Amino acid sequence: MISYDEALRLILTETDGILPGTEEIILQDALNRIIAEDVISDINMPPFDNSAMDGYAIRFTEIKSREITGEISAGNFSNISVDETNAVLIMTGSKIPEGADTVAAVEDVIVSGNEIFISSDSKIKKGSNIRPLGSDLKLGETCVYNNKVITPAVIAVLAGCGRAKVRVYNRLKAAILATGDELIPITEKPDGDKIRATNIFALKSAISASGHITVDCGFMKDDRNLIKDKINGLLQSDADMLITTGGVSVGKYDFMKELFEESGVERVFWRANIKPGKPFYFGRHRKGNKTKLVFGLPGNPVSTLVNFHVYIEPALNAIFRQKERLRIPASLTGRIKKSDGKRHFCRGVLSNGINGPEVFPLSSQSSGNYYELGNANCLIIVPENILNPKEGEILECILI
Ligand code: AMP
Ligand code: MG
Repeated sequence: MISYDEALRLILTETDGILPGTEEIILQDALNRIIAEDVISDINMPPFDNSAMDGYAIRFTEIKSREITGEISAGNFSNISVDETNAVLIMTGSKIPEGADTVAAVEDVIVSGNEIFISSDSKIKKGSNIRPLGSDLKLGETCVYNNKVITPAVIAVLAGCGRAKVRVYNRLKAAILATGDELIPITEKPDGDKIRATNIFALKSAISASGHITVDCGFMKDDRNLIKDKINGLLQSDADMLITTGGVSVGKYDFMKELFEESGVERVFWRANIKPGKPFYFGRHRKGNKTKLVFGLPGNPVSTLVNFHVYIEPALNAIFRQKERLRIPASLTGRIKKSDGKRHFCRGVLSNGINGPEVFPLSSQSSGNYYELGNANCLIIVPENILNPKEGEILECILI
């Protein structure tokens, strides 16, 4: 069976060829989208020499006293010229008047009537408290690079460049289908051997949290022909990826992998040496120059979400040329039972300890226990070669 690293490598190789389309949207809608252009600044930032402090604009000399000859506030420039003898009261952000080369902050001066004295303990130098034109960014320079996530700070930069509209990559569309005879709508109370179909909700929100769109295909009974028709339809749809849950293991009714292939999906791999979520299926469906990614996830709710975080999320990041997720090394505050050579992704609670990040492994690591998954804020990565890690051992975690 292939290792996790090999499985991920195969997925990332497949994502290499996928380049999402782009669209132009208004700036206010662009939060958390990924920019699809290099944005060039149409102005110098700042656009004029201006004061970094409330104070007095002066020409720097050894002379300590000056006469106040006027004032300038932000947006209300007045062309009062400055030489060695005078000072202009100036507010933060105001344009520096002709002749001034320094701003003495309010804290640096003593005011007496219409005169200021630079206090003897002031540390001002020539040029102090002036933000020169273009010192942050020059006109014509690139201020936001292609593929950057548009955060509130990036929105501010784009707004500063007058970009009311911005080109971003299209979101991907993921069709989500759950399978299993035991599934019932979550609005019903399970009776007998039925369970609520929770995976659809978990996956839909995981995809939305990643910034993408879902098509909810609901759930279907383990009826080979009906599911095959559905899969065939979805493969012809405009979805970029297809995510199913259930039916990929080795049980009698686990026919999803055969069914994918009968529908023209090429298998890239089935099963990797991880826990939970071992029976994961990954394939591709090509039509013309378009490739759809097909992810067949096992039905266990914890496996489903772990598979999302360890396979689908890295695939989405790679498609949008984003860096791999941050892994946080943390000290274990309890022991984990692990006696096999798989890579385990254990559920834990990561927090700040006295000596740095620490992680508490939750007591139930059962792949069906989604209640306990709800208590976790991270996955603890236990590598293949580590057995029964003990308290104090440092392991990497990913936030979920
Ligand atoms: P399967 O992968 O089909 O063998 O299912 C594995 C386990 O996950 C079984 O206990 C199923 O009842 C459960 N399961 C399957 N699909 C779902 C679902 N959509 N939501 C919650 N549990 C599920
Ligand atoms: Mg099943």
